[in-house]
Amino acid sequence: MNLISIPALRDNYIWLLQNDRQECIIVDPGESAPVFAALAEHQLTPKAILLTHHHHDHVDGVPDLLTRFDLPVYGPLETADKGADHIIGDGDRINVLDLTFLVMSLPGHTLGHIGFYSAPYLFCGDTVFSAGCGRLFEGTAQQMYDSFQKVKQLPPDTLLCCAHEYTLANLAFARSIMPQYDEIAAYEREIKQLRAKNQPSVPTTLRLEGKINVFLRCHDIDLQNKLDPHNTLHEEWRIFALLREKKDHF
Ligand SMILES: [Zn+2]
Repeated sequence: MNLISIPALRDNYIWLLQNDRQECIIVDPGESAPVFAALAEHQLTPKAILLTHHHHDHVDGVPDLLTRFDLPVYGPLETADKGADHIIGDGDRINVLDLTFLVMSLPGHTLGHIGFYSAPYLFCGDTVFSAGCGRLFEGTAQQMYDSFQKVKQLPPDTLLCCAHEYTLANLAFARSIMPQYDEIAAYEREIKQLRAKNQPSVPTTLRLEGKINVFLRCHDIDLQNKLDPHNTLHEEWRIFALLREKKDHF
């Protein structure tokens, strides 16, 4: 399989996953033009569209793509009016491109948000970002924390295919929280160089995120002591909620 990230809109990535027969799936097409260009460049035939949630920067390219290709569109109920004709939910399995994807409910950013997992790929939309976490537009911090716990249970070599290039801003925030963590500072320097060359910082691995993503580290005693020095929060999800709140005002 070959994974292709297509930069779109301001800071989105549309993902293509292709097999060795030049067939592909399209994940979260927020616009159509760069998808048509990538399909032509790589000479690919699309077989399906996968949608993680209903936001316009993930679905607006669907109608255009459907005028050119007759494709099944898989998505949660909240995308039914955005072109999804195969409505799926937690625990469903879908077969596309000779792969079986497990549908994982990942609420928090939106209430119906889902992820698509077929090892090693996880298309996680706006749930987990490299070094960060999606905004809570519809769900609660506790829901997003639970979604992160689900993702955390996947194998460490899982490739997180995030839908935005937010890594540098997330690393600046992570460093402000845990300035003593050399791994975060070192990774920030690495990604600055990468982005200066306009290279994408995703996909990322769950193994790496376990080190640099503070939202995946709410079990970390040092982080807990930093955020909650008087030990009043008690539960890990409350540490997560406090981090999300601090990031909103960063
Ligand atoms: Zn979104």
